[in-house]
Amino acid sequence: MDLKSLIRDIPDFPKPGILFRDITTLLRDPDGLRYTIDFLTQKCVESEFKADCVVGMESRGFIFGAPLAYQLGAGFIPVRKKGKLPAAVHRIDYELEYGTDSLEVHQDAIHPGSRVLIVDDLMATGGTASATAKLLQKFGCELVGFGFIIELRDLQGRKHLPDVPIISVVEY
Ligand code: AMP
Repeated sequence: MDLKSLIRDIPDFPKPGILFRDITTLLRDPDGLRYTIDFLTQKCVESEFKADCVVGMESRGFIFGAPLAYQLGAGFIPVRKKGKLPAAVHRIDYELEYGTDSLEVHQDAIHPGSRVLIVDDLMATGGTASATAKLLQKFGCELVGFGFIIELRDLQGRKHLPDVPIISVVEY
């Protein structure tokens, strides 16, 4: 299936110079949505990821992470922006192009030795995925891999990620 034809390109969003890859057009297409989740699942099965949990990053990582977890028979853990999770959290601060940002996870969601698979809609610089990996590894999780729907290869995000398998469905 030609998934690129279902992903809408929006120039200069959210700021000039960024070509935004909009997955809402893919999500609303029944065949496209099913194909995307099935493809990601198949790749995870082939890679023999034995994940206890899929970790998805706010907010588009939730959309793909939860159905993937369901398919793999794993649990799902949300990683959210600062101040959104209600119970006690672990936090990581990380550098952006301008300034810093923070990600949080519930303390009682992660357990030392649990095997986690990190999922997001898109990898650009790899900063978000790298920060999430550090947050989880700091508290003893074993990272089994990363899954992305879209990977922007030119930005070489893979260079910033730990040495585990990385799956992407569509590359630009
Ligand atoms: P990064 O941390 O640079 O790898 O950026 C990844 C995060 O930013 C993901 O959660 C994406 O949803 C979002 N993002 C970055 N660049 C784009 C883009 N060109 N189009 C859509 N989303 C993007």
